[in-house]
Amino acid sequence: MRQRSSKFLLQSIAVFSVLAFVPFLYFYSQFTQIDDKTELHIEQINRNKLEYAKVELQNSLQKMSESLRYLSHNNILLQALINPTETNTEALQDFWLLIARTQGYYSQLRFLDQEGQEIVRVNSGDGFIELVEEENLQNKSHRDYFTYARALGNREVGTFGIDLEQENGELVQPLTPTYRIIYPLNFNGQRLGYFVANLDLVRIYKSLAYKNHAKNLPSIVTAQGYYLMTPNGNDIMGHLVEENANINVANQYPLLWRGIQLSDSGTVKDQQGWYSFTKTQVGSSDNISAVTLFLKTDASEALAFSSDERRVLYQQGIFILIILILLTFTFVTWNYNHEKNSLDSKIARAAMNGMSAMIITDRNNRIIQVNEEFTRVSGFELEDVKGQKPSLFSSGKHSQEFYLNMWKQLENTGIWEGEVINKRRDGSHITQILRIQTVKHNSDTIQFYVASFVDISHRKELENRLRDLSEKDSMTSLWNRRKFDSEMQAHSARTKRYTNQAVSVLALIDIDHFKRVNDRYGHDKGDAVIRQVAKSLEKQLRETDLVARIGGEEFALILPHTDLREAEVVLNRIRVAVSLESELNITVSAGLTEICSHQDETYKRADIALYESKSLGRNKVSILSMTENDSIA
Ligand code: GH3
Ligand code: MG
Ligand code: MG
Repeated sequence: MRQRSSKFLLQSIAVFSVLAFVPFLYFYSQFTQIDDKTELHIEQINRNKLEYAKVELQNSLQKMSESLRYLSHNNILLQALINPTETNTEALQDFWLLIARTQGYYSQLRFLDQEGQEIVRVNSGDGFIELVEEENLQNKSHRDYFTYARALGNREVGTFGIDLEQENGELVQPLTPTYRIIYPLNFNGQRLGYFVANLDLVRIYKSLAYKNHAKNLPSIVTAQGYYLMTPNGNDIMGHLVEENANINVANQYPLLWRGIQLSDSGTVKDQQGWYSFTKTQVGSSDNISAVTLFLKTDASEALAFSSDERRVLYQQGIFILIILILLTFTFVTWNYNHEKNSLDSKIARAAMNGMSAMIITDRNNRIIQVNEEFTRVSGFELEDVKGQKPSLFSSGKHSQEFYLNMWKQLENTGIWEGEVINKRRDGSHITQILRIQTVKHNSDTIQFYVASFVDISHRKELENRLRDLSEKDSMTSLWNRRKFDSEMQAHSARTKRYTNQAVSVLALIDIDHFKRVNDRYGHDKGDAVIRQVAKSLEKQLRETDLVARIGGEEFALILPHTDLREAEVVLNRIRVAVSLESELNITVSAGLTEICSHQDETYKRADIALYESKSLGRNKVSILSMTENDSIA
């Protein structure tokens, strides 16, 4: 059972694998296409966003540089520089407040004298613009950028690069990146001061978002991989702030970093998602001349893009999977049944070609099939018997009751076995050991009868012959004493059961003065005389009568359905015939009586009757009926 189910499973797996091969290739290519399409799409979208940001950044930088050139060469600034009266200074203050209000790029505008002392300073931020009071103005001579500024040539413009805003020597929190542009202010070849503009990088950065969506903001990293800007403002300035020193694209996204090293723009993919990047130039400062903008799209976000297409494909896949499973199951089951059926039919064929003769009939008991052995044994071909009932083989040797019992048992138990005498095609009898079996459909209705038999005719014949031998007298070929006794027993029993039936008669016959024959002619002649008498007896009797040699020269007759008078006639006829047919004037004496239910009694009466014949002078027939006997007794 277990072996059969594991075979079933293995077959299913094999068939399923074969059937699923082509659909698998199809779905594999479909999913690959979707992946490619998704990648292309994401790359496209991210490129657009990056391109937008890049152009915006360049535009802003362009606008600022123009605006700064104007501010640095402006007449109001010049007046305040060469003639720093209160009026001129106030005029500069008013002008810068106006500029801060109309242009949002600057976080600070600063005018330093040649000693680094702030003369005018305007701070601007998210929603505020302030003019720093005179007492809060600071001296910046100790700051790095001032040292840098002093070193600038007269016609040079200094870009100190990205720095972090500080207030009184402390970093402003949250970290605020700033970009300083420094103009040395000269008059008649003499340096009188500096114009320093701090660009509000966060504000510029925010304007880079495509469609103003913060999620479209790219991260901006330096050529060393440190973040200048991130959408949430965290993790930035690893090159300036100690706690962020380890936060670097090269560590975080090695694949992206390699891509950045290899080309100016592109898209790379790792397990977390897609990364698109583009490089751009943002000024001449050494540390930020080249920056990279990059956008990350998570794998989950990418999957969401193609989720509809994937869902449709999954649905198709499930549909096809169900069909494949059904096909597999159907095929394997069909194959299994086919194998089983062909095995069954092989077995059936083998059984049909066996040593038994076989007849198969349908539910109406009409013959549909016979085998070769049947034809050999019975002489009937299939064409002779097809469509007929097996009763055509009936020999008439069995009673109707016999067949009724057979059918009853078949119906009750589905099987019948027994010995049957049937007829061959040539009319001769055949004795069979027959077995009939029903084949049922749905355990209820009989569909077929399968009959098989073995021909035991020869065995039966031998059996009969042996029985005959044991019951026959070898000298005369008449029945012997044993057969006589068993027949007497049967007749007595029948008399007991059917008291109304006509009587049967027993006759005992003895040869008269037989000793003399032996004495006179010898024993062999005596034997010949016995054989002669036997022949005469046989000749005179009916087929239904039984004649047996029950002693040396004694015979017994059983005459069924015969009364005493008729029997007396028969016996007298025998008596006469014996003497007529004998060369040596042999005569016989006989005693008759009816057969009653007691065997011994019957025998005794017949013996008495015989004795009477002897007494009366021999060559006589005497009768002792039951009633006579009773009266004597
Ligand atoms: P009865 O008229 O009274 O019958 O006289 P009987 O001489 O026939 O006497 P009984 O029947 O008693 O004798 C039978 C004799 O038959 C005895 C025996 O020697 C002889 N006998 C018995 N069996 C055989 C046999 O098989 N062959 C021959 N030849 N003789 C036999
Ligand atoms: Mg005798
Ligand atoms: Mg005798």
